[in-house]
Amino acid sequence: MVIHNLDSVSSKAAEQERAWNGENSEWGPVAAKAMIEQTRHYPLPIGTRKMTMGDIYDATPKELISKVMLEEKVFETWYSGRTVLLGDACHKLNPSGAHGAVTSMHDALALANLIYALPSNPTSNDITQAFSEYQTERIPHVMESFENSQLLSKFMNRNITGWVAFFLMKGLPGWVFRITKRKMVQNRPTAGWLQEVDVRGTVAPDVSPSTEKARAVFWERQQGGFK
Ligand SMILES: Cc1cc2nc3c(=O)[nH]c(=O)nc-3n(C[C@H](O)[C@H](O)[C@H](O)COP(=O)(O)OP(=O)(O)OC[C@H]3O[C@@H](n4cnc5c(N)ncnc54)[C@H](O)[C@@H]3O)c2cc1C
Repeated sequence: MVIHNLDSVSSKAAEQERAWNGENSEWGPVAAKAMIEQTRHYPLPIGTRKMTMGDIYDATPKELISKVMLEEKVFETWYSGRTVLLGDACHKLNPSGAHGAVTSMHDALALANLIYALPSNPTSNDITQAFSEYQTERIPHVMESFENSQLLSKFMNRNITGWVAFFLMKGLPGWVFRITKRKMVQNRPTAGWLQEVDVRGTVAPDVSPSTEKARAVFWERQQGGFK
């Protein structure tokens, strides 16, 4: 994978090009071909002979190579009426952090917990309240992943900032990495509407309000108190 971070000037230029050439112009085969030519000389630290990205491109069926234009942002509005967003639809993270998919799945779990806990004939106020609780639970974790992903993207830059960041990171003691990793896996909402399973793994998960809420309703329903 090759990542090219755009700055404010080059991203504006790319946006304009997209506007002129059509919404999907940056995703199509022409854009992918241009990208291949620009990046095929990149050296790869694998194997005994000197390899480049070109070796990988040449060994890959062309239809499996794609170029994706990504934005990074966290939207303020996540719901309106009975419509609610999750995952990339409301927060787009830099792929350097490798946290976009897991963050989307955690959104889905939190939202499903709160929908499960709704009364069977919810009013529009009940629905708004559930969506608001969903956003309140998720936003701190999303923001943390968003900021971490931006930071990690700096380490990968092939410029002076990237080299300095990489050098500093290499010098960090192991315990700092362990604290960071612990923080990354601590947030794990689970499906409160299913029978609870034992916590596995060495890091205990944080309390998730949506899981707790769904779990309380689950037990109430198990005991016949279905509303
Ligand atoms: C290059 C790259 C590398 C990445 N690496 C990682 C990684 O290592 N780890 C990680 O956790 N995340 C990674 N991500 C991010 C991750 O892929 C996304 O965050 C995640 O897929 C978002 O899930 P989603 O369900 O919100 O959206 P999507 O996966 O985009 O799903 C949306 C779906 O909706 C469909 N759709 C769109 N419009 C319509 C329509 N009008 N009607 C019907 N269907 C529609 C789309 O076809 C798509 O299937 C990476 C992303 C990229 C681009």
